[in-house]
Amino acid sequence: MASPMSASRFLDVLRDEGISVVQVGDWPTHNRNHVGPWGPVHGVMIHHTVTSGTANTVRICRDGYAGLPGPLCHGVIAKNGSLHLVGYGRANHAGLGDDDVLRAVIAETSLPPDNESNTDGNRHFYGFECENLGDGQDPWPEAQLDTIERAAAAVCRHHGWNSRSVIGHLEWQPGKIDPRGFSMNTMRGRIQDRLA
Ligand SMILES: [Zn+2]
Repeated sequence: MASPMSASRFLDVLRDEGISVVQVGDWPTHNRNHVGPWGPVHGVMIHHTVTSGTANTVRICRDGYAGLPGPLCHGVIAKNGSLHLVGYGRANHAGLGDDDVLRAVIAETSLPPDNESNTDGNRHFYGFECENLGDGQDPWPEAQLDTIERAAAAVCRHHGWNSRSVIGHLEWQPGKIDPRGFSMNTMRGRIQDRLA
């Protein structure tokens, strides 16, 4: 059971982890808190955007699109490793997922299959969208993977979580495939090493 950290603390922990952070517009107050709760927070969720071009990607993640208003995450992780803060609070990134997965994330145990969409993930997860086409061909530069590792570790470090509190969207919601092109188990190993 954890309350979300403040926006200023979020900025600090990301920078303390060595990340190059770009603040976009009124990100500390750009959120979906008017439609539902934000928190308690239990974990970090990693996504790919299915977009190309950092400026375009950041704009979409901040503003959303027809049928899905932004923000679509808290931070956008670009191919060059920069992290763009687009919102803070409830964001449209996780959607409905599996309550058994949420229980495993809270307990930091191994993940069960995600076969139900019965639980509001936007309430409980920090979200990072990563610039990638998601086609299994588009490369994941090491600079980008490094920032994914650092951003997730920064949040875990603040809350006293381990790497099992970090999941991919594909581990949360049936039918989702993101992030595609690297293994979440490998990424969790990197995060755990960083936290050690
Ligand atoms: Zn996603």
